[in-house]
Amino acid sequence: MTSNTRVVVIGAGIAGVRLARRLGELGVPVTLIGEEEHRPYNRVLLAEVLAGRYSPDVIALPAPAELTRARVTGIDRAGRTVECADGTKIAYGTLVLATGSNPVLPPLRGLFSPDHVLPEGVHAFRTMDDCLGLSKAVRPGTKAVVIGGGLLGVSAARALALRGAQVVLAQQSERLMERQLDPSASKLVRRHLTDLGVEIHTECRVRDVRCVGGTVRSVEMSDGYALDADLVVLACGVHPRVGLAQISGLDVRKGVVVDDELRTSDPHIRAIGDCAQHDGTVYGLATPALEQADVLAESLAGRTHARYTGTRSLTRLTLAGQTAFDLAAFGETEALPGDDVVQLADATRGTYRKVVVRDDRLVGGVLVGELGTVGALARAWEGAEPLPSDGGPLLHLLTNDGGS
Ligand SMILES: Cc1cc2nc3c(=O)[nH]c(=O)nc-3n(C[C@H](O)[C@H](O)[C@H](O)COP(=O)(O)OP(=O)(O)OC[C@H]3O[C@@H](n4cnc5c(N)ncnc54)[C@H](O)[C@@H]3O)c2cc1C
Repeated sequence: MTSNTRVVVIGAGIAGVRLARRLGELGVPVTLIGEEEHRPYNRVLLAEVLAGRYSPDVIALPAPAELTRARVTGIDRAGRTVECADGTKIAYGTLVLATGSNPVLPPLRGLFSPDHVLPEGVHAFRTMDDCLGLSKAVRPGTKAVVIGGGLLGVSAARALALRGAQVVLAQQSERLMERQLDPSASKLVRRHLTDLGVEIHTECRVRDVRCVGGTVRSVEMSDGYALDADLVVLACGVHPRVGLAQISGLDVRKGVVVDDELRTSDPHIRAIGDCAQHDGTVYGLATPALEQADVLAESLAGRTHARYTGTRSLTRLTLAGQTAFDLAAFGETEALPGDDVVQLADATRGTYRKVVVRDDRLVGGVLVGELGTVGALARAWEGAEPLPSDGGPLLHLLTNDGGS
């Protein structure tokens, strides 16, 4: 058993697939285990499938040769094996958890049956199955209610509107995508969705999902107002999928705790992607998941003393369609007292650019509709180098696209 050098990866999402491919290239034997029936795919592009812009094939990931379709239900740390739902046991030298996230299901009355099945017409939006289920259910004129106005809810609302649904988006807080955007950029996202026909309710708390005969009929707000609904999308965030790690006795806080070598509290088990918590952070984003996979591949191949020191990750959202709408946001998009801020807005064209600078360093920014400078800004932010102080560098940052 101790001579087993096989790496077993649980989870064939973005992180698991990238790791398995890299290990394959580096000559390390690897088994990838994934529970989803579909070919591994790029989850970030699911909204484009829902919008009808891409077919599922287009978002497939180049999968490594050895993919076992199974759900892992237990880890025997002492015997170094994992057990699958069908009773199969697979031995590992090193185990990698790349189990991703689960959608948060809000505590609404009417949502849960004793067997934990969502009512007919109510969908999460996380997997290809969720996406295909939604896609099958939506028709022109379908009354759809999206609960949640973060990145996921905005993407889902827009995709359903492009499919001809009458969409209402219910957001609990006062503006859309508040985690990534400042108020001005949120307003532009709102305008874009409104132009597509989406009705947006902010500061609006949903308290009940009403069903008849197991099928959703309406959604009730906390003020008693009810919205008719043929379709409800739950876009209320995600939480790291840590159940396996917990029952195996690993150190789990928000996510599975890992060090700079992506090692959990068991030296034979590593964790990457949405399920991992590094230096107090669970990212829940694609770029950190890929960077962690790359570092871990190097580390497991014994190539370097590869270390993961965190990711400064940019959020990008492209809402293509008849009216394309691009945005990118990074770091702190709202200024603190004493920060320097430069913003350029063009209400007619719907563009908006803003950077926040603190002590001569770029600490954040948001660009809507005009992304020519995003590469230069991201480099300045990632490098955290002091900005030149010879007058006008802020405006220069916003207007220089690197080529002009
Ligand atoms: C619609 C949508 C849009 C998004 N847009 C963006 C975006 O614009 N930018 C961005 O950065 N991020 C975005 N994200 C988030 C991004 O998709 C995740 O951060 C990324 O997928 C994380 O990759 P992962 O491999 O860690 O996890 P996942 O992609 O969740 O993959 C985990 C896989 O593990 C499998 N698994 C779990 N447990 C087991 C088990 N016990 N046995 C077998 N298999 C198991 C799961 O079924 C799943 O296939 C979006 C997500 C969604 C759903």
